[in-house]
Amino acid sequence: MTEFLILRMSAEEAITLDIDLSGNFSRLERGYVFAECERVIGEYERSGAPRRVIRLGIGDATLPVCPAVSAAFAAAAEEMSHAETFRGYPPVSGYSFLRDAASGYYRALGASVSPEDIYISDGTKSDAGNIYDILGDCTVCIPDPGYPAYRDCAIMAGKRTKDIPAAADNSFLPMPDCLGKDVRGAAIWLCSPGNPTGAAYTEKQLGAWVDFALESGSLILFDAAYAAFAAPGIPRTIYAVKGAEECAIEFYSLSKSASFTGIRCAWCVIPSALCSGGARLTELWRRRLSARSNGVSYPVQRAAQAALSKIAINYADECVRYYKENAAMIKIVFEGKGIEACGAASSPYVWIKCPDGYSSEGFFDRLLRKAQIAGTPGDGFGSGGRGYLRLTGFGTRADTEEAARRLDTLL
Ligand code: PLP
Repeated sequence: MTEFLILRMSAEEAITLDIDLSGNFSRLERGYVFAECERVIGEYERSGAPRRVIRLGIGDATLPVCPAVSAAFAAAAEEMSHAETFRGYPPVSGYSFLRDAASGYYRALGASVSPEDIYISDGTKSDAGNIYDILGDCTVCIPDPGYPAYRDCAIMAGKRTKDIPAAADNSFLPMPDCLGKDVRGAAIWLCSPGNPTGAAYTEKQLGAWVDFALESGSLILFDAAYAAFAAPGIPRTIYAVKGAEECAIEFYSLSKSASFTGIRCAWCVIPSALCSGGARLTELWRRRLSARSNGVSYPVQRAAQAALSKIAINYADECVRYYKENAAMIKIVFEGKGIEACGAASSPYVWIKCPDGYSSEGFFDRLLRKAQIAGTPGDGFGSGGRGYLRLTGFGTRADTEEAARRLDTLL
């Protein structure tokens, strides 16, 4: 087993079972990056950091939810305490009121998505792992660097993976030529705007991926978790691209823009047109859901419906503006010191090339111990992130301003 997975326990504590545990876990290269960082930061704090550590590592929302959302959440919870309005198990694919609202979200973007093709879940992270249940022996292509859950879950599910290298020389926007001509019938993760680099595909670039998927019989797994951060002109959905409904699943999350990281609600779109080997993907997904899930709670789904109302979307736009301004503030400090940094324009993230030959971990350590700023080492997002560090705009304005001052002094 990989070292980080070996349990540390005394001989008396150890109870040896005689069951075969999944060997897939031994193929994971390291612990989940954010948990690992939190452990190091916590140890540093306990050892007596000279001042408060500003956490600009994890991508968690910090602004509260729109009051219209919490009101809907509370009203729905109240409904549960009355016999006439109490609800038991929700429909496994989600209530139609939310699937209709999600379909309306796409309509507003100029895309046509049927409510029937929308499946409500507790988060894109869950969906990203669960999707492997319906995939067989296909290669899963994963942007490197990329959101770690794509790879970790693929490995745990015993899938074969292939990197899609996202590097400075392709502006962190790999195109199909990175995969080589022999790729057929692959599942291809794309995330735009992307985590961790903040790079975002144009419609033309996404069009090239859709063409490739259609030609090669591949399936695009499009993560739109940061759609709300897209700058004007950047597509917020893969379905803005012609042909995507024949080759792409989309994952959408309310986490980052509507501050649902704690409430938990997302959806995926599996167009009913998607078929392979004589089977519809939606049929497999429904079968999977019926065996594995009892759905998402009614109050959460009412809150999500409210999050898609006009007033809440305007509120979310303000939150997104705030996070992006924070990110821009951080990026400017690095640029001012002649250090390469990108992101912020379509994302809450700043992707920084570690200066002076520092490794990701070395630079993480330097910022933590010399400026009491916690980032995320770039190699935690894949080996392609080596030599980079990610900072986020999810801090408060006051913390971000303070971090910018500390960075300015340090660098
Ligand atoms: N997708 C990407 C690219 C992310 O960066 C994250 C969270 O950081 C998620 C999905 C998780 O989304 P959710 O909160 O809906 O599980």
